[in-house]
Amino acid sequence: MNETPPRVRAEIDLAALRANVRTLRARAPRSAFMAVVKADGYGHGMLPCARAALQAGATWLGTATPEEALALRAAGIGPDEARILCWLWTPGGPWRAAIEADVEVSVSGLWALDEVTAAARDSGRTAKVQLKCDTGLGRNGCQLADWPRLVEESLKAEAEGTVQVTGVWSHYACADEPGHPSIAAQSTAFEEALRIVGEAGLRPEVRHIANSPATLTLPDSHYDLVRPGIAMYGISPSPELGTSAELGLRPVMTLTASLALVKHVPADHGVSYGHHYVTPRATTLGLVPAGYGDGIPRHASGSGPVLVAGKWRRVAGRIAMDQFVVDLAGEEPAVGEPAVLFGPGDGGEPTVADWALAADTIAYEIVTRIGARIPRVHVNG
Ligand SMILES: *Cc1c(COP(=O)(O)O)cnc(C)c1O
Repeated sequence: MNETPPRVRAEIDLAALRANVRTLRARAPRSAFMAVVKADGYGHGMLPCARAALQAGATWLGTATPEEALALRAAGIGPDEARILCWLWTPGGPWRAAIEADVEVSVSGLWALDEVTAAARDSGRTAKVQLKCDTGLGRNGCQLADWPRLVEESLKAEAEGTVQVTGVWSHYACADEPGHPSIAAQSTAFEEALRIVGEAGLRPEVRHIANSPATLTLPDSHYDLVRPGIAMYGISPSPELGTSAELGLRPVMTLTASLALVKHVPADHGVSYGHHYVTPRATTLGLVPAGYGDGIPRHASGSGPVLVAGKWRRVAGRIAMDQFVVDLAGEEPAVGEPAVLFGPGDGGEPTVADWALAADTIAYEIVTRIGARIPRVHVNG
């Protein structure tokens, strides 16, 4: 074989993902597990991650867009293998495609119930609908004031046979901030929403509200199923909850580049656009062939950490579209030497959490934005 070694690669350790799913399932032993695989599996590759999660005991997959849900079915993940819930709908659906693919659809308002009911009539099938309540997130979901009406209309659609309400659900705003007063308020509101549903006579199979932080810290929130995303990829939802290792999770993605150049430069040499870094002394520079065009956050200019030849180096100067530079302090690793941006951390490399800190953002954004130009190499499948 004379394959070109990749300039940059994202290795995805599916054994780590399976172990994370098992760890999370052990935290919520009485609940079903929905693996959230939206946004290309948080940048890790949707299909291999979905399959690995199912192998480890997930029975549900969660997506934001209908396109993601339909892609899972088109790839051969059938209804016997996984139930799929898709929650971000706009007028036009595609409701009928979802109904025919046995994708369960979230409904947050009457407009959506009307559209899905009409599509069910057209297709001659029953749509599986999960009603979403806004218990205080203030994003998607039906306001509690409008909830009784949505419940009542859903009951009519059930009586007509166009709709089966399979679930009632909601989402936390601040589950990653233990003790935040909104958590208890939302839990109370969810109970109220469930009470209204029960009194109206709807009997949903599943009730759910727990994302990763709630799965990890709020056992009372687990109900019939939990919906972890970020933790399944081995990443702590927030530094406040502890590191991945402290949570018993192993980061799944390792991002490695091959140094494209190593060279000597004199003191006072400007580095990269704007010359925001000037070499303090004669030194060596290493060129890392990845930039913001690959999703490396430009905001981490001057601070993002990289492991090269056993030592942490920081991005020197600005991150450009396709490349950035590290000051190697006079050392001369070979061209092609691996530069590890992040990984599990136990080989001395930085983690996604370190990059989130350097870029003043959350770890979710770091992995999700890794671009299509970087190949995902799935191992331990
Ligand atoms: C993304 C998402 C999740 C998963 O959240 P994590 O914090 O990654 O665990 C769960 N539910 C909904 C509605 C989501 O949008």
